[in-house]
Amino acid sequence: MIATYSDLKDKVILVTGAARGIGKQISLALASQGAHVVFNYRGDETKAAALKEELVAAGGQATGLQFDVTDYEAMTKALDQFTKTVAPISGLVNNAGISKDTLLLRLKPDEINSIIDTNLKGCMLVTQALSRNFLKAENVSIVNMGSIVGLMGNASQSAYAASKAGMIGFSKSVAKEMASRNVRCNVICPGFIQTEMTEALNDKAKEEYSKSIPLARFGSSEEVASLTCFLLSQASSYVTGEVIKIDGGLYI
Ligand code: NDP
Repeated sequence: MIATYSDLKDKVILVTGAARGIGKQISLALASQGAHVVFNYRGDETKAAALKEELVAAGGQATGLQFDVTDYEAMTKALDQFTKTVAPISGLVNNAGISKDTLLLRLKPDEINSIIDTNLKGCMLVTQALSRNFLKAENVSIVNMGSIVGLMGNASQSAYAASKAGMIGFSKSVAKEMASRNVRCNVICPGFIQTEMTEALNDKAKEEYSKSIPLARFGSSEEVASLTCFLLSQASSYVTGEVIKIDGGLYI
């Protein structure tokens, strides 16, 4: 169940990695609030056109921006063009992320680079690219998609955990640095959420993980989208620099 936040209507919000999973669900939830969703995708143009239609049908405006968050030139070009010719962006969800589950012993340097480049540097550079634009926008809220693993660590996820832990230090610094301009920045730390990322786990692993979750189930993308809408709206106007877990009690 997602509450209605009237101030999200017409708010211009960029969601990275919006083509599927949590990013897509957040985009749909924002569209249903009447927001102008600037959805980032990196691949398939046909799927992007279909997503645009879905977002408009849900009640929002929608603009697709194609770039890879690790491609600095393409990313800054797309964002500059949008903010200069369409509207300032006043909400940002740094959601694009990848994981590679393997023991540290087997992790290749290239794999470490791509996890850090996507999850941590991608978040930092997109935020930086929009920071001048944020000074012109009103009630800016940045939501960074961390992970419970960035707080508690996890065997076979050392690089992923490091990237998500780094995101927390970055977000708290942005919260302090930009608070005087009324820019807020918070981190969401999901536990296990049902998406393609966790679909890769076998049934036995899923059952084992569920046993360690007090609410005894994986969360849904809708539940993460609900918290994201709250943090983007002025309903959370006095919340900044926070790290909010959404994990069914996994890390109590
Ligand atoms: P998915 O793998 O389902 O989707 C990830 C999305 O990120 C895809 O749309 C993908 O694009 C996009 N993406 C990946 N790399 C890049 C890149 N370099 N540039 C632009 N877009 C990129 O993941 P989830 O929806 O499950 O996860 C979303 C976020 O939530 C991630 O940051 C993840 O770490 C975090 N999270 C997820 C949890 C879970 O249990 N699912 C738990 C904790 C955190 P494409 O379609 O082109 O591949």
